Amino acid sequence: MTENISAIGAHEWQAATYVPVTAEQLQSMTVTSAGGATPQFELPAGTELDVIAVNCRRCMRPFAEASEQPCIAV
Ligand SMILES: [Zn+2]
Repeated sequence: MTENISAIGAHEWQAATYVPVTAEQLQSMTVTSAGGATPQFELPAGTELDVIAVNCRRCMRPFAEASEQPCIAV
């Protein structure tokens, strides 16, 4: 399989949101990142998040711009 074949596909939409973090959470995320892992933390059950923007994680384009066009991963 070549990279070009997998480059064209369906958009994978993701929402950007605002999540406040504490100094302790930032410290923990910094340590996790330094170790090569993706930082994570849990939110209380029932937490509602405001969506700031939606874009595609493959082609990085915003939903309003790319939703009617094919996804070409960058
Ligand atoms: Zn896309």
